[in-house]
Amino acid sequence: MRRVTLDRMAIEDVGLNPQRLAQAIHDQLAGLNGAVPIYEIAAALDIDEIREEPLSNLEAALVTTPERDRGRVLLNSRSNRQRRRFSLSHELLHFLNPTHEQTSVGGFRCTRQDMRLSGGDKIGDRHRRQESEANSFAIELLTPRNRLKPFLRGTPELAQVVSMAKEFDISREAAVRRFVELHPDDLAVVFCKDNRFLYAACGREFPRLSITAGAQCDLGQPVQGTISGFDEIAPDDWLHAPQPACELLAQTLWQANGRSITLLRADQSDDDGPGFDDVFERFTGGQSR
Ligand SMILES: [Zn+2]
Repeated sequence: MRRVTLDRMAIEDVGLNPQRLAQAIHDQLAGLNGAVPIYEIAAALDIDEIREEPLSNLEAALVTTPERDRGRVLLNSRSNRQRRRFSLSHELLHFLNPTHEQTSVGGFRCTRQDMRLSGGDKIGDRHRRQESEANSFAIELLTPRNRLKPFLRGTPELAQVVSMAKEFDISREAAVRRFVELHPDDLAVVFCKDNRFLYAACGREFPRLSITAGAQCDLGQPVQGTISGFDEIAPDDWLHAPQPACELLAQTLWQANGRSITLLRADQSDDDGPGFDDVFERFTGGQSR
């Protein structure tokens, strides 16, 4: 196990922005390979106990003092290692940001739903904003931007997401959310169970989705453990007021228990006609690299 020492004052000097805080930690951990040692980082930043126990309604909790001089984290042992790593990274931001207010008398209590809130969601209240900030920090810390370039090159494909999840020891859900957030193409990800829509996350430029929770998604025949090819799907079934020139492609990763992850790619031609850059992709059905 790698020994991690960190200068907490230097990290906190960068302010409260989640991305900058995560970057400040990485600045002190130059030369990392493989999974980010999140347990060791938490310990080096004064989290003096990390306990794992079966929890029913929570993914994680943090008990700390108003001064944030020490903290203890509880993680749900029913969740897999990748989720626990994300939860620990998430709790670390509640700990490092002294303006975050605890959500119950006993401390911060975070649910699986909290762990999904992102900056793209409409964040009205303080609790949801705190959770979204903790999630941005968690993924920035677990997948530092300067190591993501190889995964974001070329035509976006779920195989890249799978390798990203493996490389950083994070869940495929966390990896695909990060992929969609940072990839230069217009992407979204749709999570389904038994071909019914659960929830989605969209990249900044992706057109607004019209599909709602529980709706039937016709994504083809599930074959567990496989990734489908790219299929063209009807923009009218998925988008609010799609532009006439918009093409929508879908690729699905079929997981266990009827769950699936579908990557959506929108090709929205500009007003000045078909783009020169993607002309080869048009010939090859979007599968060129
Ligand atoms: Zn939280």
